[in-house]
Amino acid sequence: MTYKLLANDGIDPIGKIKLEEAGIIVDTNSVPQAELLNVLPNYDAITVRSATKIRQDLIDACPNLKVIGRGGVGMDNIDVEYAKEKGIAVVNTPAASSHSVAELVFSHLFTGVRFLYDSNREMPLKGASNFNELKKKYAKGSELSGKVLGIIGFGRIGREVGKIALGLGMHVYAYDINEVPAELSLNFANGATISLPIKSASLDEIFVNADFISVHTPFMEKPIIDEQAFSKMKDGVGIVNCSRGGIICEESLINALNAEKVSFAGLDVFENEPKPSNAILAHPKVSLSPHIGASTNEAQERIGLELAELIINSLKNRS
Ligand code: NAD
Repeated sequence: MTYKLLANDGIDPIGKIKLEEAGIIVDTNSVPQAELLNVLPNYDAITVRSATKIRQDLIDACPNLKVIGRGGVGMDNIDVEYAKEKGIAVVNTPAASSHSVAELVFSHLFTGVRFLYDSNREMPLKGASNFNELKKKYAKGSELSGKVLGIIGFGRIGREVGKIALGLGMHVYAYDINEVPAELSLNFANGATISLPIKSASLDEIFVNADFISVHTPFMEKPIIDEQAFSKMKDGVGIVNCSRGGIICEESLINALNAEKVSFAGLDVFENEPKPSNAILAHPKVSLSPHIGASTNEAQERIGLELAELIINSLKNRS
């Protein structure tokens, strides 16, 4: 039997080739959400990222649907339990982008400690006329090495962040609702491996001791970092959120930045995506990126390949 798959939010070419080699017809046309009710019944499988929503009404309209593949982590856009009740396999690729997200965390941290979030805005305006003034403005940078990084949520991404931090010579304090490992194993390009210790810490220990804090929990109903949490932190702490908007209360963050409690923030995710507040976008001490944690060629390739393998296996199990 020849299966047909709709890759509605795109799929990396390497994943498409793998699917086609397995005899699956892959259609990469992006069908608008409203038209899926008419189009998807012609397919056996669909892959999505976060844009396409697979809700009960769509599932009901597609009795032929056998697999839903999500490239990435969160499944908030899919009615997973309902799909499973209807015998549809739901697969995703939770680990494929972890390292890319972790590297983005450090892009924001390095940006923060050398004021690049501000100098990238100021240099085009004043670089030629006031070079020395700007040089003085950004003269008091600091190093990450030797500092304490507090990681809240020590799952796949939190651990990747921990490894990079250890490699840079930082001290890692980690908090998770589940057990935190005593050490992390670092793999180097020459094949060498080394295990380095992690300090399992309470939230308050992180707030009190960390020079930088990065959050890596799933989305939560209420922020884990709010006004009270900021009040416990070291003066001049740097904060990064590359997990989900709302985990840090943006209003409290702006107050903490204005009060110089927080020296800078790096944000990839926002309370009101895809329309972040102006107060956050325009704040001079915030380094900004538009939810691009997983958006590297390497992560997309890994996602495409892993998704293709999962879909091929699911379809094989059906025939
Ligand atoms: P994960 O499930 O591997 O890890 C999450 C960890 O958080 C788990 O260890 C869990 O025990 C812990 N946790 C849950 N509730 C907690 C709480 N209240 N306090 C402390 N720890 C808690 O997930 P992951 O793959 O590491 O992803 C982490 C976050 O990153 C998710 O929110 C995910 O949606 C987000 N993410 C963002 C991007 C991006 O583009 N910026 C890309 C991928 C994932």
